[in-house]
Amino acid sequence: MRVNRRAGGVRVSYLDRIDLAKPVRPMTSRKWGALALAMLARCTCPQCGVTYSYCLPTSLGMCVLCAFPDDQKAA
Ligand SMILES: [Zn+2]
Repeated sequence: MRVNRRAGGVRVSYLDRIDLAKPVRPMTSRKWGALALAMLARCTCPQCGVTYSYCLPTSLGMCVLCAFPDDQKAA
């Protein structure tokens, strides 16, 4: 949906008819399996191979202990 700043209105183009749209396909067991593997990969550190109960930060690409090993030694 685009908002026309000059005219101050909202212009909508109805390319798809909502009344003809089909509902979202239900999740199959294969899809659940793929999702579980994806979530498992997000929780597993590629550096040390430890699987955590939370998702690892994608900015680090590894678990916090592998990203900052010096911090653990100091503490
Ligand atoms: Zn790690």
